[in-house]
Amino acid sequence: MRVILTGAAGFLGSHLAERLLRDGHTVVGMDNLLTGARENVRLLQTYPAFQFVHHDVEDPWPDLGPVDAVLHFASPASPNPRSPLGYPNLPIRTMRANAWGTYHGLETARRYGARFLLASTSEVYGDPEVHPQPEDYWGHVNPVGERAVYDEAKRFAEAMTMAYHRKHGLDVRIVRIFNTYGPRMRMDDGRVIPNFIVQALRGEPLTIYGQGEQTRSFCYVDDLIEGIVRLFTLDAAPFPVNIGNPQEYTILALARLVNELTGNAGGLRFEPAMYTEGDPKRRRPDITRARNLLDWEPQVPLPAGLQRTIEDFRTRLARAAG
Ligand code: UDP
Repeated sequence: MRVILTGAAGFLGSHLAERLLRDGHTVVGMDNLLTGARENVRLLQTYPAFQFVHHDVEDPWPDLGPVDAVLHFASPASPNPRSPLGYPNLPIRTMRANAWGTYHGLETARRYGARFLLASTSEVYGDPEVHPQPEDYWGHVNPVGERAVYDEAKRFAEAMTMAYHRKHGLDVRIVRIFNTYGPRMRMDDGRVIPNFIVQALRGEPLTIYGQGEQTRSFCYVDDLIEGIVRLFTLDAAPFPVNIGNPQEYTILALARLVNELTGNAGGLRFEPAMYTEGDPKRRRPDITRARNLLDWEPQVPLPAGLQRTIEDFRTRLARAAG
């Protein structure tokens, strides 16, 4: 297959690109390098079947020739307003990447009769009132809240994807991605696992926003990619499918685990909550659909995945220092 993958320089995009290349596909990776890393592009360029297109998904796309699939992963994705890369600091870019970017991707797929896969998110569920979250839960999002630029943009992208399916019979897939971590995550994007690992490796206290009682369920990147590839290659109706790890941790328990695995004696530091309202209190995927439809479930428990991620961060920090 020849595929266009947007966001190929990003954390998930680069892992997915590498997996598709290893599976024998040709990958045209599109990225504007706003939050993606040139280092990831250099790695992908070691594969002869990879082509990089430096382009912003929100602008009209150049004709890249016939393709069998378009996978749309380009978007800022960190909710942390304390990081310049967080989507609260890139609000219009975030909305455009998911609105215009999705539109251009769908139009490209339509032109070539290609399959379209949208990288959606657990954030479509907002601060959920149903726990765990199944795909048929409609969510609890404040359209004028601080997270809306991402949450509502992804909800819009899902609606547009379904509109192309209903109106034009386009072959579409929607994956709702829950918190994912692993090697190659940006160390400075402000999300909880990169923050904790960098702080721990520097011997600093880990910053807990709020009381640390909020929960998340963390999926190791290889597990996530396996689930996405199964959904992508399946011949099936265009359900949204949750992909994530249902093992739920409080942020406090995560912090203690990172300190334990790194031997960090720096302890914890409590800081004000990330948002005044709207930070999800609990998040955990119901993965019944993925289990039944894809025969998929995560294999890597959090301590093992964290260990591999810590090693990657250690190497990159040493390289940056040396
Ligand atoms: N968080 C934290 N310390 C940090 C970064 C994040 O306590 O240094 C919290 C954040 O407030 C949120 C949770 O960890 O409740 C997960 O945040 P993240 O940015 O990783 O992504 P989210 O799951 O909110 O999309």
